[in-house]
Amino acid sequence: MSRHLGDEWLLPALEPSNREWFTAGALRVQRCNACHADQHPPEEVCGSCQSTDLTFRDAGRTGRVESAVVVHHAVHPRLKERVPYTVAVVSIDDAPGCHAIGNVVDAAPGDVEIGQAVTAVFESVEDEQSGETLQIPLWRLA
Ligand SMILES: [Zn+2]
Repeated sequence: MSRHLGDEWLLPALEPSNREWFTAGALRVQRCNACHADQHPPEEVCGSCQSTDLTFRDAGRTGRVESAVVVHHAVHPRLKERVPYTVAVVSIDDAPGCHAIGNVVDAAPGDVEIGQAVTAVFESVEDEQSGETLQIPLWRLA
């Protein structure tokens, strides 16, 4: 896909619990091996049964907008050239109860509405500090 975030976009710090989400190039939600509950964002323990026996599974690529906001104020100098942009809270179709937050690309500010179907797209970004390639999940109106 074309670049949306640009070279100056701030990247998430990878840690064991979020590595799958930011590097898999797929919507990977946590699955509890004890009670089979899905959860996102990933945690150290299952929110349903407190088991630490957690794995990850693919949860498709589609979801629905639950909430959206247009960001007009650059909260960091590097984002100054990026505003306005839309951030949405999306319920993942194949993982009931799981919500993911991400930027909506290829949509004008104000065009994103609650209830709209979205598809995940992934932007490949090199993290110069860690040398890793991240696959940042973004949303596009379906
Ligand atoms: Zn559980």
